[in-house]
Amino acid sequence: MDLLLKDFKPVSELRVPENRIEKPKYPVYDAHSHWGHLLLGNNYPALYNTMEVVESLKEVGVKRIVNLDGFADGELDKVLAKTEEAGDFIRHFGSVDVTRIYERDFETMVYRTLRDSKAKGIAGLKFWKVIGLVYQNPDGTYIRPDDPRLSCIWQCAAEMNLPVLFHIADPIAFFKPIDRFNERIEELGEHPDWAFNDPSLYSFDELMQMQHNMVKNNPKTTFILAHVASCAEDLRAVAKWLDELPNMYVDIAARIGELGRQPYTAKWFLETYADRIMFGTDMAPGYDLESYRIPYRFLETMDEYFSYDTSGTGMQGRWQIYGVGLSDEALRKIYYENADRLIG
Ligand SMILES: [Zn+2]
Repeated sequence: MDLLLKDFKPVSELRVPENRIEKPKYPVYDAHSHWGHLLLGNNYPALYNTMEVVESLKEVGVKRIVNLDGFADGELDKVLAKTEEAGDFIRHFGSVDVTRIYERDFETMVYRTLRDSKAKGIAGLKFWKVIGLVYQNPDGTYIRPDDPRLSCIWQCAAEMNLPVLFHIADPIAFFKPIDRFNERIEELGEHPDWAFNDPSLYSFDELMQMQHNMVKNNPKTTFILAHVASCAEDLRAVAKWLDELPNMYVDIAARIGELGRQPYTAKWFLETYADRIMFGTDMAPGYDLESYRIPYRFLETMDEYFSYDTSGTGMQGRWQIYGVGLSDEALRKIYYENADRLIG
């Protein structure tokens, strides 16, 4: 029988306990979501009703959420106006325009922008992989996340007591050739622009080194490294960095698929470093709320071999996950205590 991979949808015949978690054991602070133009496009204000989304989030036990798409200036005003009715249920992270790094008054611009944004109420800053993988210097090299010209941002964030969330890379498979050995080949087939295997780009390991340098060289700045420091495939490496860098934190947004396929290591990691790990989803309004119940099931139960996404087959790769049944103490820290302390 010839069968195309895309048509292969095996159904597990395991008869094992299935515990659906309607509501989490403790209130949840989602430290990673997107309410602005980054995922939804410029027309986002027309795409959702803020209070409807807030009500549905409360139904799945969310008590507060971080919108990472605050940006600055007019963009910040726009998202603040759109979400105003939600009050402090939504906390916003701002940013600065890093493409202006060549301008002589870059540092002044950084301080002015962050002062303005802080006055408007931002609770942190967000940066992402366009630094390292997209923005170029005039000589064609890519701007490095550990570029000393950026340190004025990290310095200013420390002075203003704003944590910095940085999403620096992507799954290791996105940096590998797209061939029959690539464990995320179907996902890359759907999103060819997610591949970073061009030899002119920094490699995954180089980006991890830059991430480490950035956190180490700015010890007064609190860094939340998104998606388990973009290195959920290697939790021992992340643990080593956490041991070494007291100003480093991570979120688990969109990495339940990675954590849940290595349950022994993930349980050890989540319990040992519970003080440094924050819950996050990467959700945007319009998202299926099952995307909350699946991480709850992963964190709270010992269920075996279940899907980590709402498609049932695995959008990231063809595997299933296992619950880690965390202790109450670890759950409280990861669900909300760390975010309460760091983001407020
Ligand atoms: Zn995100």
